[in-house]
Amino acid sequence: MTDQPLWKIAVDTPLPEALTYLPIPEGPELQRGQLVNVPLKKRTAKGLVLGPSTASLNPDIVLKSVQSVDEEYPALPEHFIKWLEWLAHYYIHPVGMVASLAYPPLSKPQQVRKSSRPPVIPIMESEVPPEMTPEQKTCFETISQFKKFSSHLVFGVTGSGKTEVYLRLLEKTLAEGKTGLVLVPEISLTPQLIHRFARRFGDKIAALHSQLTDRERTTQWWDIIEGRKSILIGARSALFCPIQNLGLVIVDEEHEPSYKQDEKLKYHGRDAAVMLAKMADCPIVLGSATPSLESWKNTLEQKYHLHTLRNRVANRSLPDMSVVDLRGEKASEEAQQLKQEKYSELPFWLSPLLFEKMKATLEAGDQAALFLNRRGVAQMVLCPACGHTRECPNCDINLTLHHHSHLVCHYCDYHESLKEKCPDCKEGHLEAMGLGTELLENDLAKLFPDKKISRADRDEIQNRADLENLISDMESGAIDILVGTQMIAKGLDFPKLKLVGLVLADVGFNLPDFRATERSFQLITQMSGRSGRHVKPGENPGAVVVQTYNPEHDSLVFAQKHDFEAFAQHELNNRSQLSYPPVGKLIGFRIQGNHLRVVQDAARLLAKRAQALKAQFPQYEQVEILGPAEAPLAKLKGKFRFHLLLKGPQAGIINAFARQTMGNEEWVPTGIKILIDVDPMNLL
Ligand code: ADP
Ligand code: ZN
Repeated sequence: MTDQPLWKIAVDTPLPEALTYLPIPEGPELQRGQLVNVPLKKRTAKGLVLGPSTASLNPDIVLKSVQSVDEEYPALPEHFIKWLEWLAHYYIHPVGMVASLAYPPLSKPQQVRKSSRPPVIPIMESEVPPEMTPEQKTCFETISQFKKFSSHLVFGVTGSGKTEVYLRLLEKTLAEGKTGLVLVPEISLTPQLIHRFARRFGDKIAALHSQLTDRERTTQWWDIIEGRKSILIGARSALFCPIQNLGLVIVDEEHEPSYKQDEKLKYHGRDAAVMLAKMADCPIVLGSATPSLESWKNTLEQKYHLHTLRNRVANRSLPDMSVVDLRGEKASEEAQQLKQEKYSELPFWLSPLLFEKMKATLEAGDQAALFLNRRGVAQMVLCPACGHTRECPNCDINLTLHHHSHLVCHYCDYHESLKEKCPDCKEGHLEAMGLGTELLENDLAKLFPDKKISRADRDEIQNRADLENLISDMESGAIDILVGTQMIAKGLDFPKLKLVGLVLADVGFNLPDFRATERSFQLITQMSGRSGRHVKPGENPGAVVVQTYNPEHDSLVFAQKHDFEAFAQHELNNRSQLSYPPVGKLIGFRIQGNHLRVVQDAARLLAKRAQALKAQFPQYEQVEILGPAEAPLAKLKGKFRFHLLLKGPQAGIINAFARQTMGNEEWVPTGIKILIDVDPMNLL
């Protein structure tokens, strides 16, 4: 035994807790927040000093000493260490692996090296800010009164000038000598956006996103840490830059599901940002035209301050939305006849209305964009006569088709066989539908042979350069018709885009996910927000056409009226029926491995442990255990996948429940991996 103080070190290794070490022999006193080198098995590892250890250890354990302090990095600020500890606890992830994210990829550059790449932030001519609209002014002035931690939701329709409000708030933050952090979804981090910030703030900006080289990331990181730059714009990972004097955090498009990281540390960028602002005791501003129900509920409960921008700037109007009922197109004889006489050349997916609007738009020299949501895993099953789809009687989510004849619920494992006749209208024959962007592109090329058509989906747009080319071709007018998946429907601002078509809205309605309706509402609203953003008063507003078999779908009815508030009320009510988030809390386990039987057995074993735990402790009475069930993506990269869901009233309770269910993990069969996802956004 020794009287020396012991130290808790978060070592970069997949062990759940921090490790205990002796201080450096004859070395300087360690400090919380320092990066140190420690021996780990036969190698040296990096570790973050969390503080003196109070644990009473087994006296037989031989402890090792910390080897040295890494002098390159200044000790992390206290608020930031607290935030890392919170992440590790809340998302049930090894603390050392969380801490390892707080450092740049390379060591500090000794001198500025000439680079052949263009600068991360270009030098732009500075601009004079526009005068704020009264709504922007009220929003800006109200938020600027807050100096300490407070959460604000700026709910502003598309084109209402939210970004201008962020710019003004940042100006103020800088004037107070503090640093601002701006998070945007990776896909929105376009040159358009960076230029807008550079025109306002010149060389005060640093940026972090996935397209930078390690060298560029490292340089940007040090520019912020050493105070040469005072605004950091980035995708969610920019949160991990340990900013010392944080004065304001902004999260744009806060509803975006891509803020959630799907692998390793499965954190939600928005939620983590709110917690960071809390630890740093500064205001945080979330912005969206379609706020997440999580944030909306927080405003209803007055945890967040709500600021509303109801109008587009310069009295530009919101686009008109027409809904085409595809059932009618198939069912009514009149429509059938018209189609045969006048529109026989149209492909099955294109309604006469959308076709006519496209023609008119293109003739006027404007642009049209057609979107198709393709993020379905299985084919969608639907009755073309009544639009009916099958839902799980237990979970209210859509069943998915397997092996041509089997419908399955991916939450609770409910099964039924596919009926040929629609069980609702007893008339139509249920059909599995398949449709892709490539097909749309080919059909359009025949209909509009002299127009330039461009396709934007995962196959075509694989990196930032592809996206940037697409954006500049849209801006220059080189593209007449854009065909794409929802990945490009967000945040883009093209003056000549006057018509947006959603080819088959039903694909979105039918995802096996309790958020399907919310996602559809967001997508329809965001997509239509791309249309007619620069229309002057008196001009024709932009147009939106939505084609669907379910014109009464909640998401469509409210989106057409541009009524987010009513939608949110309605959907929150639906969520509360089955205690889905944000009313209840979810934690997902994914069980995966190479052999189906072993994976299935492990999933059952996990469920059994959960059931036993629930039976044993009264505090877990309200925890619901759903599954195990096959994941919607039942096999991915050679691995079989099952999942088990926990639903509970409070984060703290199901967090503890999930930890206890996992226990020491010694029971987990060899070859099986169990991944925990707290607040899952994607249950595929
Ligand atoms: P949002 O972020 O809400 O979609 P933006 O901030 O991008 O909206 O504003 C939409 C458009 O209106 C942009 O082209 C922007 O430059 C312009 N704009 C914003 N605020 C004003 C203002 N007060 N006066 C004039 N134009 C403005
Ligand atoms: Zn179910």
